[in-house]
Amino acid sequence: MTFQDLQLLSPILKALAKENYVTPTPIQEQAIPAVLEGRDLLGCAQTGTGKTAAFSLPMIQRLMQQSRPPGPRRIRSLILTPTRELAIQISDNLKAYSQFTTLRSTAIVGGVSQKVQERALQQGADIVIATPGRLMDLMNQKQIDLQHVEILVLDEADRMLDMGFINDVKKIISRMPAKKQTLFFSATMPPEILKLVKTLLVDPVKVEI
Ligand code: AMP
Repeated sequence: MTFQDLQLLSPILKALAKENYVTPTPIQEQAIPAVLEGRDLLGCAQTGTGKTAAFSLPMIQRLMQQSRPPGPRRIRSLILTPTRELAIQISDNLKAYSQFTTLRSTAIVGGVSQKVQERALQQGADIVIATPGRLMDLMNQKQIDLQHVEILVLDEADRMLDMGFINDVKKIISRMPAKKQTLFFSATMPPEILKLVKTLLVDPVKVEI
């Protein structure tokens, strides 16, 4: 199996070639076709399995295919992840995967200047990678509009629960359209996470590694 077999578009294939990705990992083989079809996804996978590309590549492709509505650039995809380190890592990967597209992404994380992030948002981003705390701050200050999100990714949901972010995550989700594609990743499925899965996901494809 190659990335070409997964029906990815040439700007994405070109980026993968440049990054020296030759063969999709098992989670990528399973997740990419389902996400390209617009299905919700429930993934039980650890970091190191190629999880980031598994959700990022088809997400980029869907944003490319459903062309951007006219008017200012709005956030069409939000990735929530528990830590700053993970957010930066995902952001770096996304920039590499989308380097031959016109999509723009930005990271919203704590511990660095909020002003810089506000400016990046004002300049427009299609994809935002965020930790819940800083995103809540910006939301409360009306600096971020999530009403045009088409694709939501919850990364390491169980860790966000452990770190006490679950109520923030729920509040953030309540600011998005109900109709969207949701990609949900968690290494474990404690009851609280299972409840969230049931309220959020519609007939999800399940991927386990
Ligand atoms: P992740 O599980 O998303 O954190 O990915 C783990 C590492 O594997 C990252 O450094 C990725 O850049 C790399 N990676 C992911 N998918 C592939 C692939 N299909 N071929 C080669 N490297 C990959």
